Amino acid sequence: QAKAMGRNKYCAFSKELTLRAARQLSLENELRNALANQEFELYFQPQVHINSSEICGMETLIRWQHPSKGLQYPDQFIDTLEETGLIVPVGEWILKESCRLVSSWLKAGLPPIKVAVNISARQFTDPGFLRSVEKTLAATGLPTEYLELEITESMVMGNIDESFELLQKLRELGVTLSIDDFGTGYSSLSYLKSLPVDILKVDRSFVMDIPNSQSDMEITAAIIAMAHKLQLKVVAEGIENPEQHDFLNQNNCDYGQGYLFAKPLTQKELIEVLNKQRLEQENNSLTVPA
Ligand code: C2E
Ligand code: MG
Ligand code: MG
Ligand code: MG
Repeated sequence: QAKAMGRNKYCAFSKELTLRAARQLSLENELRNALANQEFELYFQPQVHINSSEICGMETLIRWQHPSKGLQYPDQFIDTLEETGLIVPVGEWILKESCRLVSSWLKAGLPPIKVAVNISARQFTDPGFLRSVEKTLAATGLPTEYLELEITESMVMGNIDESFELLQKLRELGVTLSIDDFGTGYSSLSYLKSLPVDILKVDRSFVMDIPNSQSDMEITAAIIAMAHKLQLKVVAEGIENPEQHDFLNQNNCDYGQGYLFAKPLTQKELIEVLNKQRLEQENNSLTVPA
């Protein structure tokens, strides 16, 4: 009986595995066609100056409009893109499309704001990456100071010498570099002091429990102070309520991002928000007495 049960268990297990493998394979195949079929969409989440709440930048966030399953979020497909290497062409498209759009908005007279693009590990270590950034900037005409690239600690720490060199070259192009999800990776403080980047993005997990978690408040304040000593700017991720905003403002955080200010927006929504901000700024400058 035990043997029979064992066999059944084995069968159920292998059936489960087969199902999972089949699902993974169909996801891969669907992703292979998604780029050609133009199923990927870019959303943009505004970033603000903490002290004025004015928009100063945005982060590109990818979405997948699946033909039958509807809108898919990165946690449902980014890992598969990365594992299959598809992230290289898809990432190139994300970068190019981001630069192209922002360049066209600048030309149309929208308030000038920067765009931050997430770079995956596979893209970062691809030998053609630097060249592809250069080519994209040239092809889209986006002034380099409007482009920011977000990388993570683990991408840099994996191969320190090579990545330092690459970061240096990207900075020489005039691109801004930020460390995403800061505090969650294996950060080596001794490398941080010489890391050629401009911005630390404090991970949402530290911001989330402010003002209830005393330790998260201490850590966040310490990261901001340390970053400033190292001449780095700080973005806080995932700001959802005014208490978090106040705390970050009191602790001199430079920039913020989160649902309190805006969720990730479609192009159309973003343009509306930017136009509204421009009108408000124009009205303010008209009402200020000379
Ligand atoms: P991330 O780069 O840390 O992006 C921030 C994530 O936090 C986004 O999730 C954003 O929608 C979410 N978020 C922003 N504000 C709040 C908030 O106030 N509360 C909460 N709960 N969440 C907030 P999303 O768009 O699902 O992206 C998840 C991750 O997928 C990103 O984390 C990034 O690592 C990756 N990803 C997104 N777009 C791209 C892309 O174009 N290329 C690459 N390589 N990775 C991407
Ligand atoms: Mg990011
Ligand atoms: Mg982040
Ligand atoms: Mg994060």
